[in-house]
Amino acid sequence: MDAELFPLAEDSAVSVLSGLGSYTLVASEPPWSSLAPLVRPPARLITPGNMELSALGSLLADEPDTDVVVGLGGGLALDTAKYIAWKTGKRLVQILSVVSVDAGFTDAIGARVDGKVTYVGSVVPEVVILDIDLVRSAPARLNRAGIGDVLSCHTGLFDWQLAASRGEGVPWDEKYAAPCRELLRDLAEYASEIRIVTRDAVRWLVSAYRRIGGLSRAAGHSRFEEGSEHFLAYAYEHLNGGQQVHGELVSMCSVAVATLQRNDPETVRRIVTESGTRANPTDLGIEKDAFIGSVTGLAEYVRSARLDFSIAQVAVLSREVVHEMWESVTTLPRRGS
Ligand SMILES: [Zn+2]
Repeated sequence: MDAELFPLAEDSAVSVLSGLGSYTLVASEPPWSSLAPLVRPPARLITPGNMELSALGSLLADEPDTDVVVGLGGGLALDTAKYIAWKTGKRLVQILSVVSVDAGFTDAIGARVDGKVTYVGSVVPEVVILDIDLVRSAPARLNRAGIGDVLSCHTGLFDWQLAASRGEGVPWDEKYAAPCRELLRDLAEYASEIRIVTRDAVRWLVSAYRRIGGLSRAAGHSRFEEGSEHFLAYAYEHLNGGQQVHGELVSMCSVAVATLQRNDPETVRRIVTESGTRANPTDLGIEKDAFIGSVTGLAEYVRSARLDFSIAQVAVLSREVVHEMWESVTTLPRRGS
């Protein structure tokens, strides 16, 4: 029922771009310069970078009279394209050039206001294009990071159940939880294929995002996919101005939060390890003090950003617990770039 909300087609980015009328293109680099000589040029080209709401708003002033907005790239490009399509009411086509985040299959537009994540509106693309060859030409490391936005269901479901049991937020609904648990089981099975970025692994990751995106759209929330693992990632970014790859940071935070939740952290660690995803803080350039500051500042960050009720509100963060969380991530395998 729900997955159809995000129409998906496998096609080549070049043929899709060549078949459009006048279009505004929000494209990441790479891959844009390798595709540019092969397609009809866009009426406007935007290189995404700044997700602050004020910066996004300033993009609207120069928007020409085009038929369609196209996002081409990873999260930044797709989210920026969503914002422009939402504000202008234009059709939206999203072309995935990497499967590092679920942004192609989320209707919520996540901007930043003073560095804090804020959802400003929502829009559903006319179609999401999966160009498998283009995706597989992206650095493997980025595609592996795609596990983060599925793995987050492990800790997100826990937080949702915790909140619901206390009468906080939206009530528990098994109809949304059950498919997410199924995706987590499949993720464990696909982990070793994701490591080598097989065609099936790319297709599976995309289908998982699409399924979760459809469930979020139907439910009107994302409690099963976004919990304190994302909040910890946002808190870290807010406090430290993070430059991490979203899925790698979320993977690290999923391990740390599963440890805090006493929620089978070994399964999370195994998936991270088998998929070869970088999540050891040393590899991500995350220092111990910054990690600990984000963990101890999490509850306050969640309150001030008005995020959902989660383990962050009830956990007692003793020195031992914080140390255990740090241990859980620093003992993950080291990965090169
Ligand atoms: Zn995410």
